[in-house]
Amino acid sequence: MKTEHSEASDILAPVRKMVQACIQCGTCTGSCPNAFAMDYTPRHLWRMVMMGLTDEIFNSLTFYLCSACYSCTLRCPRGLPLTEAMETLKQIAVKENRLVNKPSQLFYRNFMESVRRHGRVRETEFMTLYFMDMKHPFLPFRYMPLGLKLLRKGKLSFQLPSGGNTLDALFRKAVEAEEANP
Ligand code: SF4
Ligand code: SF4
Repeated sequence: MKTEHSEASDILAPVRKMVQACIQCGTCTGSCPNAFAMDYTPRHLWRMVMMGLTDEIFNSLTFYLCSACYSCTLRCPRGLPLTEAMETLKQIAVKENRLVNKPSQLFYRNFMESVRRHGRVRETEFMTLYFMDMKHPFLPFRYMPLGLKLLRKGKLSFQLPSGGNTLDALFRKAVEAEEANP
């Protein structure tokens, strides 16, 4: 394992700044509802950030599984912005093209695209676009039981989009704000 900050690991610098006061108490891990599914616990991840283990971090699923519940941030005795640090790791992974979890990326992108276009998610359109992006002919069959369940409960709408309620302006502002504060 590399323990020094190589040139490549400089991409971790903004996250390192956020967690450098970590005392490894483990409160974040104990507070995290998703820690059971993570390959490295949040406490472990912050140690890896301090050690500059870039490849190990971006090959892990830990930060993808953060659901931004803020429990760790609220409970960290050092008051560290941990949810923001997880979010920053996601942003770096996209920017540096280091995403290992392609299905999640495509799922998220198509979900947000549907919200941008209609002001809410249109499930049928969103899933159709996701299946097309995944280029996996058998994937829709995997989702069929869930689709039928949702259909029975009246949770799936086949209504054609009206073209109104677009959140274009809001999304544009978010992009401008991100570009202004990279
Ligand atoms: S709760 Fe805060 S201080 Fe404790 S391990 Fe997590 S980040 Fe570090
Ligand atoms: S914000 Fe993320 S890392 Fe923190 S407790 Fe919630 S899910 Fe876990």
